[in-house]
Amino acid sequence: MLCLLAVGAQAQTRSKLVDNIVEHATYLASDDLMGRGTGSEYIHLTTDYIADQFQSMELRPYSGDSYLQSFSIPGVSDNESNMIGFIPARRATSSSLVFTAHYDAYGIVDGEVYNGARDNAIGVAALIELARLFTQEVAPEQNLVFIATAAEEGGQYGSRHYSQNPLFPLEEVTIAINIDGFNVSGPREDYFVIPREGIDYLDEIDAIATSLGWVYDSPDWIGSLNTSFDTTTFLFNGTPAFTLWVGDRGKGGEEVQSPDFGPIHSADDEITDQWDWSGVEDHLMLYKAIADYFIEHPTGISVTDTDLFFRAFE
Ligand SMILES: [Zn+2]
Repeated sequence: MLCLLAVGAQAQTRSKLVDNIVEHATYLASDDLMGRGTGSEYIHLTTDYIADQFQSMELRPYSGDSYLQSFSIPGVSDNESNMIGFIPARRATSSSLVFTAHYDAYGIVDGEVYNGARDNAIGVAALIELARLFTQEVAPEQNLVFIATAAEEGGQYGSRHYSQNPLFPLEEVTIAINIDGFNVSGPREDYFVIPREGIDYLDEIDAIATSLGWVYDSPDWIGSLNTSFDTTTFLFNGTPAFTLWVGDRGKGGEEVQSPDFGPIHSADDEITDQWDWSGVEDHLMLYKAIADYFIEHPTGISVTDTDLFFRAFE
């Protein structure tokens, strides 16, 4: 009974924003979608859900009345589709900010569903609600393009396709902001940016983060993730991009024991009672504040070492 009361209390204090994220992530990571495997029939349920969300907030469709940007992948019979909705800039401009979160996961492996909850149902949920925040504001100074990318696992196919077929010119993308993984460990104080080398906009990001009470603390192993995200193609092409993670310190700086969620890319990547949603909004609002800054300051940042982001794809 005490336990039920505690759960109820947590739910009651949640904002509508977090409630929405919980709802999206719970559906996307459910067995209804069977792990959102590329090439599987369940991809269509996934894209339908994202389209419904984009439509509910009246994001402009990628083409005509469709949010789908479809393309083929070698060895996959069906086309896959990036889901793209955008908010047009207040005045005519071809510059844009791009927001990405991959919706695919591994599907069913050896009879087990790899639900891809942290990787990356939660990221897509956050992307949807980030878009909704922008739709509730005055039209931005640049076009804002929200992309739930397809087939990131196994080749970053969706983001590569977009970078070759962008809605607004790639050379006029101010920055590509990627959500892949998200804080479900509770309130946190420290954050870091991936990549941390080969770019010259860490100072700008840190000024914003510091103003919100965040502390930059980048683990040494981060360099190993330089080519691990949908940001890879953007960075290699010289387009600023990043992914933002949080660390292990609670508010006030004390080290907190994060739950052991088990590995991603496994049947263990599910939403469980261990998930603590109470840090979700702060993480999202940090992304939002950084985006707001670059909407207003679209020039003067660059990728300084594109070679760090070279990755050979088949
Ligand atoms: Zn991922």
